[in-house]
Amino acid sequence: MSQSTMRINKTSQSQLAKVDFEHLDFGKYVSDHMVVANYTNGKWQDAEIIPYGDLPMSPAMLSLHYGQSVFEGMKAFKMMDGNINIFRLKKHHARLNKSLARMCMPEISEAMFTNALSELVKLDHLWVPGTDGASLYIRPVVFASEARLGVKISDTYKFVIMTTPVGPYFSKPYKLKVEDHYVRTAEGGTGFAKCAGNYGGAFYPTLVAKDEGFDQVLWTDHKDHQYIDEVGMMNVMFVMNEKLITPALNTAILDGVTRDSILSLARQMNFPTEERKISLTELEEGLQNGSLTEAFGVGTAAVVAPIQSIRIHGNDYTIPLPDDNSFQVRVKNHLLDIRTGEVEDRNDWNYIIKVK
Ligand SMILES: *Cc1c(COP(=O)(O)O)cnc(C)c1O
Repeated sequence: MSQSTMRINKTSQSQLAKVDFEHLDFGKYVSDHMVVANYTNGKWQDAEIIPYGDLPMSPAMLSLHYGQSVFEGMKAFKMMDGNINIFRLKKHHARLNKSLARMCMPEISEAMFTNALSELVKLDHLWVPGTDGASLYIRPVVFASEARLGVKISDTYKFVIMTTPVGPYFSKPYKLKVEDHYVRTAEGGTGFAKCAGNYGGAFYPTLVAKDEGFDQVLWTDHKDHQYIDEVGMMNVMFVMNEKLITPALNTAILDGVTRDSILSLARQMNFPTEERKISLTELEEGLQNGSLTEAFGVGTAAVVAPIQSIRIHGNDYTIPLPDDNSFQVRVKNHLLDIRTGEVEDRNDWNYIIKVK
């Protein structure tokens, strides 16, 4: 990692001084540099680091028309000792390859991904905020770049990594509606892949829900709208009868890294966990008899987003807001402490870039 063979073209006009680290709106500032690599002649060519900026493209570029575009969302944290931690790099890389395979796109080796990302973060390490709960959000994206109007699998691709400093993100408690008309995806579809089209397709139902006064939708299975899948663009978890319950993964559910981290930590905290189907009937009963004590979304951006109410078949149910003893607050703090090195990383989740 110390000796880089990557070509690096440094910017002569750093934008760092313009960043107001006290007010970091998500995605407002993009860091100085980006990684770019091209897939041509059947293989990934060497990645390079160049100043962040526009890329030339043809309007016939296949990703625009037929949707071969996948991405990742991950974070790097400033640790207590001043070094930088790219959290769960390996798992994000593995998921990127799963998404790529589903979309007939070429996989990226772990070595290439790790080297390019570490060099980028090392070069732009001053962009990693040092304030509590803040981080550098990392956005790898791969898209079909061939210019051709016929429907086909692209022969060429681009892999880009951008980063943006983000503040501590506290989600206001969500008001949800169970979505029993639209679907985000269906089993056998692309729901488990982090591909662009899943987002485009989810915008409209979410807009409708927002117009009705909700913050997000609780997605249900495509067949009967009877079982819970996810919330918005996050995985969903419940605490019911003192157990952490979350829908078991299937092809319609994204295999969230935060979901995985929280399930692992729950087990290590001796908090019982269950991954299984959760029906609306069970959810409604839990809300009526009070055995459901917590509901929250989990994902890289917010870590944990509390849910304050859910509308099921026309009935609104409220859920107590979390306090310091709530599982979601304890597990979130535990996760943050692992990321900054305050507690031991027993699971080998931290990928540390030495800048000190
Ligand atoms: C990215 C994403 C999540 C959360 O995954 P993390 O790896 O925890 O960030 C959940 N659901 C969907 C649909 C997503 O795109």
